[in-house]
Amino acid sequence: MATKSSRSKSPSKSPGTFESLNPATGEVVGVFPLTTKDEVDEAVARAKSAAQRWANLSFRARNIALRDWASILTRDMNEAAELIHRETGKPLSDATLEVALAIEHIGWAGKFAPKVLARQSRPAGLLMFNMQAQVQRVPFGVVGVIGPWNYPIFTPVGSIAYALAAGNAVVFKPSEFTPAIGAFLEESWKRIAPFKDVFTVLTGDSKTGAALTESAVDKISFTGSTRTAKKVAASCAERMIPVVLECGGKDAVLVDRDADIKKAAEMTLWHAMSNAGQSCIGAERVYVHRQVADQFKNEIVARARELQPGFGEGAKYGPATMPAQLKVIKSHIDDAVSKGGTFLLGGKDAIKGGYVEPVILADVPEDSLAVTEETFGPTLVINTVSDMDEAVDLANATSYGLGAAVWSKKNGKRIATLLQCGMVSINSAFSFAAIGAVPFGGVKDSGYGRIHGAEGLLEFTYPRTVVKRRFRIPLEFTTFERSERADKILVRLVRLMHKRKIR
Ligand code: NDP
Repeated sequence: MATKSSRSKSPSKSPGTFESLNPATGEVVGVFPLTTKDEVDEAVARAKSAAQRWANLSFRARNIALRDWASILTRDMNEAAELIHRETGKPLSDATLEVALAIEHIGWAGKFAPKVLARQSRPAGLLMFNMQAQVQRVPFGVVGVIGPWNYPIFTPVGSIAYALAAGNAVVFKPSEFTPAIGAFLEESWKRIAPFKDVFTVLTGDSKTGAALTESAVDKISFTGSTRTAKKVAASCAERMIPVVLECGGKDAVLVDRDADIKKAAEMTLWHAMSNAGQSCIGAERVYVHRQVADQFKNEIVARARELQPGFGEGAKYGPATMPAQLKVIKSHIDDAVSKGGTFLLGGKDAIKGGYVEPVILADVPEDSLAVTEETFGPTLVINTVSDMDEAVDLANATSYGLGAAVWSKKNGKRIATLLQCGMVSINSAFSFAAIGAVPFGGVKDSGYGRIHGAEGLLEFTYPRTVVKRRFRIPLEFTTFERSERADKILVRLVRLMHKRKIR
């Protein structure tokens, strides 16, 4: 199986290209250009010219293009899903779900951009009552999107569609593990594009990604590891351009004693192990109330026993898409057990070839790698707590802050408000990611900025304030001609508005 570094060294392909491999079979899915720094710069320059034309179109015209794109992708959904299946190894049905959700976001972004980004009038206040005040939303120009391999359509489309709907051109660098899907997205866009270079895809490796951050792009939207996010942010800081960072997580699931335990176990299993656990918002830790802990463990283990990883029909999840991840998963399992954790399911031999069988661990010390670091595999830690306050403290005691789930009939909302993270689902799993209207993103090491929803549209524009004097008044303050009378009136007005008795 190819590793990240061996991909670019394979002797079977010409210099300047790399192969994308099916992680389950080793089949070559395609050979793609390793885009050089000069080529990145040229593509961004072309995107700059297109950006101006694209921004000058009406919201309606851009919405039509996005609607057409959604329609083409809907028509070609099976082809897209098949490609994702082959390039990531995930089951076809999961790949189809991913494409469907991406299409939903394209539709939402195009439809709601006019409302969210409309010019707004703001009250000018008593001191400036003769002014008209407005805020306009202005697209940045060219947005560079750097995507991951775990959800190779859904995740980047969360940036691409919202950036396009806001009036930006986009240059997208897919992960070196999923270039075919990137190329597919570009091809589908070209079929409906009103003109060239509005959306460009550049395949390559980490050097291509780094070159994109150093190019003349006006903003970067990155999804991937916290380690790489810091490099990307440093590069953007050099150029003083803004960046959205959607990094990993260590999402916790909190199960209260009044929870529907069967449902909690059923959905938490999917939350943790679907896509072979390779989800930034995947459940990695469960804190379950001691009164229902045994019931929850029994339920989830019984269900997990039925899960079969594989590539063929009936497989519930696929192999590790990035083989290097297997070492990380193994180290987390070994460390958890050496520190006193116990296996409820699976064992140290859970890794078989490129696949990881389900692993459920209990009573894992909170300083273990399996609790502190992102595992990104089909593994789950279940620790017991005496109450939900303890669960909240432990859930928050992490450097990450992406998502969380709460299972409780009565206390879900109260518990959700105590969690330090960007998204919480109550009595469900992952559901926020499928809702176009709500923002997606995290805090702490999980990054900053937002994709999806109104916040995701605003993220790809900057506010431009425009104020206009509507009529002359005798009391103008912003001039050397200001009179003493104006000064006195100013002080009187401020006193009138702001002076209060302080208790
Ligand atoms: P990376 O963070 O290294 O890669 C993410 C993207 O960034 C890829 O497109 C990658 O390109 C690109 N990239 C790599 N280096 C640079 C750079 N210096 N400048 C700009 N772009 C760069 O993640 P990995 O794929 O190596 O996965 C490592 C870990 O990250 C996983 O184990 C998982 O824990 C986490 N991860 C989190 C994801 C999430 O959804 N938040 C998604 C994927 C991974 P290329 O692939 O060509 O190197």
